[in-house]
Amino acid sequence: DVIRSEEIQQARMKLPILAEEQSIMETINENHIVVIAGETGSGKTTQLPQFLYEAGYALKKQIAVTEPRRVAAVSMSQRVAEEMNLSNREVSYLIRFEGNATDQTRIKFMTDGVLLKELQSDFLLSKYSVVILDEAHERSVYTDILIGLLSRIVPLRLKKGDPLKLVIMSATLRLADFISNERLFRMPPRVINVESRQFPVTVHFNKRTPDNYLKEALNKIRKIHTKLPEGGILVFVTGQREVNWLVQKLRKAFLFNRKRALKGSEAKAKKSEEVKDGEIADQDLDDEDAGLKKGHRKRRKVKVIPQIDLDDYSIPGDIEFDSDEDGEDHEDTLSSDEEENGAVESQEGSRATTQPLWALPLYSMLPIHKQRMVFQPPPEGCRLCIVSTNVAETSLTIPNVKYVVDSGKCKVKLYDKVTGVTGHVVHWCSKAAANQRAGRAGRTQPGHCYRLYSSAVFNDTFAEHSPPEIQQKPVDDLYLQMKCMNIDKIVNFPFPTAPDLMQLKTAEQRLKILGALDDKGNVTPLGRAISKFPVLPRYGKMLALSHQQELLPYTICLVAALSVQEVLLEVPIVASPNLEEAKSARQRWNATRQRWAGSGQSLLLGDNMVLLKAVGAAEYAASRGDLQRFCEENGLRHKAVVEIRKLRLQLTACIRDNVPELADIAVDPQMPPPTELQAKLLRQILLAGMGDQVAKKIMPDELKEGEEKAKFKYAYRANNMEEPVFLHQGSVLRKSLPEYIVFQEIYETNKMYMRGVAAVEPE
Ligand code: ADP
Ligand code: MG
Repeated sequence: DVIRSEEIQQARMKLPILAEEQSIMETINENHIVVIAGETGSGKTTQLPQFLYEAGYALKKQIAVTEPRRVAAVSMSQRVAEEMNLSNREVSYLIRFEGNATDQTRIKFMTDGVLLKELQSDFLLSKYSVVILDEAHERSVYTDILIGLLSRIVPLRLKKGDPLKLVIMSATLRLADFISNERLFRMPPRVINVESRQFPVTVHFNKRTPDNYLKEALNKIRKIHTKLPEGGILVFVTGQREVNWLVQKLRKAFLFNRKRALKGSEAKAKKSEEVKDGEIADQDLDDEDAGLKKGHRKRRKVKVIPQIDLDDYSIPGDIEFDSDEDGEDHEDTLSSDEEENGAVESQEGSRATTQPLWALPLYSMLPIHKQRMVFQPPPEGCRLCIVSTNVAETSLTIPNVKYVVDSGKCKVKLYDKVTGVTGHVVHWCSKAAANQRAGRAGRTQPGHCYRLYSSAVFNDTFAEHSPPEIQQKPVDDLYLQMKCMNIDKIVNFPFPTAPDLMQLKTAEQRLKILGALDDKGNVTPLGRAISKFPVLPRYGKMLALSHQQELLPYTICLVAALSVQEVLLEVPIVASPNLEEAKSARQRWNATRQRWAGSGQSLLLGDNMVLLKAVGAAEYAASRGDLQRFCEENGLRHKAVVEIRKLRLQLTACIRDNVPELADIAVDPQMPPPTELQAKLLRQILLAGMGDQVAKKIMPDELKEGEEKAKFKYAYRANNMEEPVFLHQGSVLRKSLPEYIVFQEIYETNKMYMRGVAAVEPE
């Protein structure tokens, strides 16, 4: 029996889904595949697992819940445990690098990728009685594949007399892709629509679409806060950096004003009253304010509002600050604060309210305890304002939002199917996404959505829906995983939306080059070894090769580092970057990196040697409890380094378990640097994994007429690409400019750049 607290019980009673518990459970008991569609916030994620648990589904086997986002897996497992009064030994989570699942786990939240990996060793998912695929409308690659696979697994389990229930949960979007797809489900599954009490949301379009949506957002929030009645504000922008910038701006503007206002007599009275009451909410706010002014130093007191540390930002994973000449657009807007700050101040001078704004950031890389802040009521007398990326669109429901400010933008990682070039671009989101965002304002009362773009732009430029992820990224790892599950004809697989043939062909081609598939397209023993590793096939191959010459510890370290995004930063992480400071930090870091790269063979390992050294040095710093500071000083993204350390352990364990000869391998925190020979061999290993990613220096005599020599100093030709690609300005190989290099990735900002470069010798 579940014993819930009074408070929790009351919150639950307000959720629309609770009224339908009985009919939902009847439908699930009588049908094997059920789709539950309901507006965000109706209670699907938090309540469905509890319904199933109480109906006895977790008695003999476990309940699995998949989430496309790691944030959601972690945060939801905690919330459900809390609601049910169970520990996280019983309601647990599992994501790629970590988890708290135990043998007592009854409800397991996990990322969809993790469940797909589990399928490889247990195709029938026999430890589960139910699989809930949450957020199916997000159309993440792994969820899509899981739907396809589970459409076959459910009948198989039934045949075995050990039935498995499949519950697909989705916002009320595009259900047709799942339910009227005969290749997927011959009989359309039962659909339950959860009625939700959605209050009307008035949508306001901007007359004009401004060039700078961040400034516009700031203005809009200021107006809402100073002119409109009580109610939380939720702001959608695209990335962590933007979130942090806006939050910082808001805190500066409104807390400052509050302090000034407090000097007024009325406020004085209020303050003394509060102090008398022993209430120090106010002082704490002042304290935060002081913290802001002092910049990076520590805070003095942490009392009534303990969680938030204003100066402690998690580090954006999406910084693009590329070569010397291109500090423009984004960075510049971010650092032109000074005049703009003045503007905000003077406009505010006239405002009536002295109410502070409680501004909080929200994005997936934000540490968990800070993410949880958004669910807590703001301090007495403050208005809540959450600045978020699109994680608040459907994965997390923020309570008591009355105003939504929507930039209409989202950031996507684009991938060119032919050249493999990737790049982050910010562009318009879809109409469906914009409507989801607007809907966030009407959960608890009628609300307003301010769109920072014109209705013409919305009508003419916004797509109806964003394309499913499977059509937008390389499918190599999926292709191999599916082959290893003995799915032979991948073109015939029941995808909810199929990737295009070109994508499948290039994936197959690359896997053949790697040696993971033979000429006929069958998985080779190497392919099987590769697929065991929780990393991309090319890195799997590097691992599989490295039992030689005692290279494995280095390869593990390197693969771990290469598998985590944005390890080496280009600009310091402060909310309002100052160009001068940024430049000097960059110079300092570049010097350190050059030193880390060393000389001789190790220098030829290039950026990879920098990574190896960085991880080694970080390990040492961590052993002294000094990791955070070390990372800040040396331009490493702290969270990335933490992930690398976990992945290193995980890969080591994975090798211990899968390669009997290597059963005694361990992570050596004091790994000595590779010898000259080892460094040379490591380059060969890199080439083995990334042989399709080699570039050759463009020589002056190859330049066409009119092409300026200086502009091509760092230019290479790669992958038969027409356009040149450049060595990044942070690359340690810029000094030596080897003729041939192997690179990890090409990405595009204002030019095409290569990341993770090492020198190779021509054969
Ligand atoms: P859905 O999955 O249908 O979008 P959820 O189950 O995620 O809905 O949310 C139901 C309710 O639970 C929402 O009102 C949300 O604010 C609340 N909730 C979710 N997580 C937390 C949390 N950690 N703390 C407090 N409330 C939460
Ligand atoms: Mg949900």
